Amino acid sequence: MSFCEKCGVFKFRAEKHRCPPRWMVWEPQQGEEREDAGIYHAADAESAAEKWADETDNCGDYTILQGEAARVLVAKESDGPLVDPVEIEVTGESVAQYMAKTVSRAAIADEGEKT
Ligand SMILES: [Zn+2]
Repeated sequence: MSFCEKCGVFKFRAEKHRCPPRWMVWEPQQGEEREDAGIYHAADAESAAEKWADETDNCGDYTILQGEAARVLVAKESDGPLVDPVEIEVTGESVAQYMAKTVSRAAIADEGEKT
């Protein structure tokens, strides 16, 4: 069992692995053009846009997580004319996560009532 070197997907030994297609994702509203596109392995265009957001939003001010939707163009990776280009709106939400860890055995006398 290992991760695919090309796409990063976790491969199970028994399973025949085939890398998902590669997508170009770019954000015209930020002045990006096709040449600026990031490349993401994903099953579909929307998943590619989510990967883009996961990577891009982290590098900035988390504007998407702060509620600002982003519009991106996604197309199958190609050198020639755009293949199946779609415009996708990306939104996000951050999920609260709590972590509990025992620090020490509490040395507190139990002063509860005895019955
Ligand atoms: Zn792969």
